[in-house]
Amino acid sequence: MADPSTVLARTIRKEAARLGFAAIGFSSPIPQPLAMQRYNAMLAEHRHGEMVYLENRLDERAMPSMLLPDLKTIISAAISYNYPLDTITGGPVISTYALIDDYHTVVREKLQQLLNFLNTLFGEDLNATITVDSSPILEKNWAEHSGIGKTGKNTLLIIPSAGTYIFLGELLINKEITDNKHPLPNLCGSCTKCLESCPTGALIEPSKLDATRCISYLTIELKREFTPEESTLIGNHLFGCDHCQQVCPHNHQTTIPPNHSFTPHQNLLNLTPETILSLTKSTFRTLFQGTPIYRTGLKRLKRNARAVTKNQNKR
Ligand code: SF4
Ligand code: SF4
Repeated sequence: MADPSTVLARTIRKEAARLGFAAIGFSSPIPQPLAMQRYNAMLAEHRHGEMVYLENRLDERAMPSMLLPDLKTIISAAISYNYPLDTITGGPVISTYALIDDYHTVVREKLQQLLNFLNTLFGEDLNATITVDSSPILEKNWAEHSGIGKTGKNTLLIIPSAGTYIFLGELLINKEITDNKHPLPNLCGSCTKCLESCPTGALIEPSKLDATRCISYLTIELKREFTPEESTLIGNHLFGCDHCQQVCPHNHQTTIPPNHSFTPHQNLLNLTPETILSLTKSTFRTLFQGTPIYRTGLKRLKRNARAVTKNQNKR
């Protein structure tokens, strides 16, 4: 006879698949000393650049039970956005995740629907917290722990059958859900394609990223103006970079389709730096509201466009 807790996990997983999640997994909130050691090493080596918020709330990162009293289970949930993209190659680049609706909203809504299902399943309103980049939590670590994926040499979580073009969110609940899944083995093998394809050498070792050289960090997270070296590093990237995902074999053999909520905004394909530099606050809002680029703001987007123009003129 099937273990009742496994049956529960299977029932929830089935509903999650119906809602469009590529994978969900369950973890008990036990201490993760190794993951915290790696995290603290990243901070000590200043590989997080100027993302000072990553230095804060370390206690909560180490002890997720501080995020929810009576926490019993962390549900890690992944949604795929691996949609086919038809852009002019060689032109200024906008990362694929930025051409669709802001994932924070979409993933949060889906997790709320999953929570509603759990409330009905348990016959009571659970104590719960939904987090989509909104709480200090070691999300890749918990996703690995739950057995849904494994971090690749490109530092991104690889979900078998869904690849790395995924968004993660977590649902913290006060009910115990156990599962028979175990952490996955290394999924990279001898492949080193991501390290070789990174145009800036930001992947300094397998699974070790120096954000200060990463185009995604520079064009999205960095708030100030670029130094001349940073300006050159971004090349023709207007917003984000996907090189280390584009080459990953796991993204070429996916069987789980992208969530239907993620349809590229056609008017954002093939934008030029000139168009961006001509935007006013109002036209920026019209073009980008509801996308991740709107969060970053016009000032940084124009900074990126100026650097791309300069780099194009150097060619
Ligand atoms: S996002 Fe781009 S710059 Fe950053 S590690 Fe990947 S390939 Fe390198
Ligand atoms: S490109 Fe190769 S080494 Fe890099 S994450 Fe994918 S499988 Fe791993």
